[in-house]
Amino acid sequence: MRISSQKALGLLKRSLTPNRPYHAQWLLTRRCNYRCRSCTIWHEQQRVEEISTDEVKRGLDVFRKLGVIEVVFSGGNPLLREDIGEILDYASRHFVTTVYDNGSLVAKKIDALRSVDFVAISLDTLDRKKLDYIKGVPEAWETAVDAIETLQKEGISVVISPTISRLNQHEIVDFTRYFIKKRIPVLYCLYSYDFPMKDRLFGIGEKTDELELVDRAAMAKVCDELIELKKKQQGIFITAKVLNVLKEFFASGQRTWTCEALRGFFIVDHLGRVAGCHLRQPAASIFELSDQWNSERFENLRKEYSRCEKCTYLCYIVYSLHASVLGNLEIMRDQWRNVMLLRNLKAETLSN
Ligand code: SF4
Ligand code: SF4
Repeated sequence: MRISSQKALGLLKRSLTPNRPYHAQWLLTRRCNYRCRSCTIWHEQQRVEEISTDEVKRGLDVFRKLGVIEVVFSGGNPLLREDIGEILDYASRHFVTTVYDNGSLVAKKIDALRSVDFVAISLDTLDRKKLDYIKGVPEAWETAVDAIETLQKEGISVVISPTISRLNQHEIVDFTRYFIKKRIPVLYCLYSYDFPMKDRLFGIGEKTDELELVDRAAMAKVCDELIELKKKQQGIFITAKVLNVLKEFFASGQRTWTCEALRGFFIVDHLGRVAGCHLRQPAASIFELSDQWNSERFENLRKEYSRCEKCTYLCYIVYSLHASVLGNLEIMRDQWRNVMLLRNLKAETLSN
């Protein structure tokens, strides 16, 4: 994480400002070179229309004005965009910036990744065959591991991002131990799927029995073990607060969080349309967002979303739980701890 004092000051100032979003996720493209079992994005490869580089930059200016702290670029695979280096460079000046890759494009796009705070590589298991099966392409495991090594060698901060599903839930604690021993942080996703919703922004996941988390007691135990591990080790990129809420959810079925879509976080698609989450209808274009943010219409949408209990996408839970000024600071403190871990790692890599 290369954080200039100007950027740090800007982030801190925005963190302390109430009533503004912490997190924006921009799905820059619908194109993808993988065929993951749970994902529907690659089914629509004919849709290649995308917002231009200048429009993305203008959108990022709007984020800044609104007070956004953290921007995550995903897709599809955002590294398929020719202009990804320019976008990441622009975003990284002002936001904690993360970009996702399945590992396949890191080597080709290494220079584009130098400015970014975190490159998240999606890797679900240490079992090679299982990963190839989940990702739907051969040699997905070797490709991801090569990408991780390349990023480490180049001194670029890498985090591993497994999606916890029925196929890997029993190994996720050992998987975490394996990577934190290598001093690579782990940032989790939870297998979820879209419910039918008219006029949603876009679809991501479909219901797949073999992935569905049906052993809830085992998941509560996973949360418990991660909570204990987190007390002793750096590198678990999820706050204790979120782990405790998830544990409660899996143990008793109770949702103890309130959705903060369009308040604590929002989503932007490849065309620059903004929604509270991908399952909700577009609420504005990125260029209308500043004008709309404090409108009555947005307030009404927020009220509606705060009553919604339809999804368990982990990123939405995280940014709902940490939507307050205090919550923002908790995430930042957690991130800083992990940043120190990465810094030490980089120093060791350079001295070897
Ligand atoms: S989950 Fe990600 S990497 Fe896999 S097909 Fe979908 S967009 Fe591509
Ligand atoms: S709970 Fe929130 S994030 Fe999930 S579908 Fe409802 S509004 Fe969207």
